[in-house]
Amino acid sequence: MAAEAPDHADLVIVGGGPVGAALAAGLEDSGLTVVALEARARLEAPDPRAIALAHGARLILERLGAWQNLAGRATPITHIHVSQRGGLGRAELSAADVGVPALGYVAEYGDLYAALATRLLDCGADVITGARVEAVNATSGYAAVRYRRDGAERLITADLVVLSEGGRSLPAELRQDKDYGQSAVVCPVRVERPHAGRAYERFTPDGPIALLPLGAADGHDYALVWTTPGDQVEARLGLSDDAFLASLRAAFGDRQGRFLSAGARAAFPLRLSLAAPSASHRIVRVGNAAHVLHPVAGQGFNLGLRDAWKLAQTILDTPRERLGDAGLARRHADERRLDVIGGSLMTDLLVEIFTDDRFLVRHARGAALALLDLAPPLKRLFARKMMFGAQSW
Ligand SMILES: Cc1cc2nc3c(=O)[nH]c(=O)nc-3n(C[C@H](O)[C@H](O)[C@H](O)COP(=O)(O)OP(=O)(O)OC[C@H]3O[C@@H](n4cnc5c(N)ncnc54)[C@H](O)[C@@H]3O)c2cc1C
Repeated sequence: MAAEAPDHADLVIVGGGPVGAALAAGLEDSGLTVVALEARARLEAPDPRAIALAHGARLILERLGAWQNLAGRATPITHIHVSQRGGLGRAELSAADVGVPALGYVAEYGDLYAALATRLLDCGADVITGARVEAVNATSGYAAVRYRRDGAERLITADLVVLSEGGRSLPAELRQDKDYGQSAVVCPVRVERPHAGRAYERFTPDGPIALLPLGAADGHDYALVWTTPGDQVEARLGLSDDAFLASLRAAFGDRQGRFLSAGARAAFPLRLSLAAPSASHRIVRVGNAAHVLHPVAGQGFNLGLRDAWKLAQTILDTPRERLGDAGLARRHADERRLDVIGGSLMTDLLVEIFTDDRFLVRHARGAALALLDLAPPLKRLFARKMMFGAQSW
């Protein structure tokens, strides 16, 4: 960790969250001067979320040297059970169907971030914490990043600036936003039967319910992600544990036996937000700074990690003196377009189609799930998309 930032760097990363940290780690052997500015005073993420990591994300984390720090704390998902409430049809995907050891993994957010933050700190980047970026502007010769630290305003210039600040604190020239009018209520829950690596996605007219297995396969713990209409969030957060578990059982059923207990609950408002590429080729966005998705099917971080990995490869293929050229930003945008549009469309369609409670739509969904369950090639295609993104074939 650096005490002070230099006046100029080849690359400034704004936001040392999981995606910014992944980018810095991917540039370890680049020989570039990389500065990461992170608003938080410490590289810690006290966050109640659990994150489903696709098999493809594991492969990237391995190459970044972060998986080694996480492997012992990540839970393999060997089966995914998809169903809908109030309609027939269900599908079950298994790792064996696709020939991989696990369809994905579940990690607690804090563990995932700790694994990446460790790499951020040892990859040779100058990491400046407590540095809140207030503005980024580009000229034809460089990009200028204005930030505040210890109450004082500071400036650093760079050939290229990557925004990985999560999309909440810096404006984009053009951003398409859709408020789902829903929040995800998250908490740990304990169930009667061992999870045995089985994850659930259950669609209800109010939105999907996901249960992600946590801990050893003979354990009984799940991370719950319960999509909740905006006007019901406060009530759901305020229920007694018994009443909360009873309403969860009514919505989810008894597939894992009874729900025995629930931990502390938190809520995250849900939106779809897509930023257009920056007008300046010296500014590139990755992760949530570029796209925020509904958490259905657990795509957001996986997509952001692929952004970081691909951008690192593009930077490594670019001579240092060409970092600020239009070509780099264009190549990155071209390379990521299909994956980002595919991921956003897929999650948005799942939310819209599965919350449509009309009789015919419900039965068409049931038929589609049954077809998916019965057709191994379809299963494999679907699993590939979930594991490696929309671009994969
Ligand atoms: C309920 C829920 C469940 C989810 N589940 C999944 C899942 O199962 N699988 C999955 O793949 N994805 C999931 N996601 C999405 C995932 O959490 C995000 O995509 C991911 O956290 C985004 O990481 P990021 O690094 O882009 O942004 P962030 O995590 O927001 O990090 C941004 C960083 O930038 C810093 N920062 C902010 N502003 C500034 C500033 N002005 N100056 C300097 N630093 C700044 C912040 O402090 C932070 O460290 C879920 C999301 C939600 C809401």
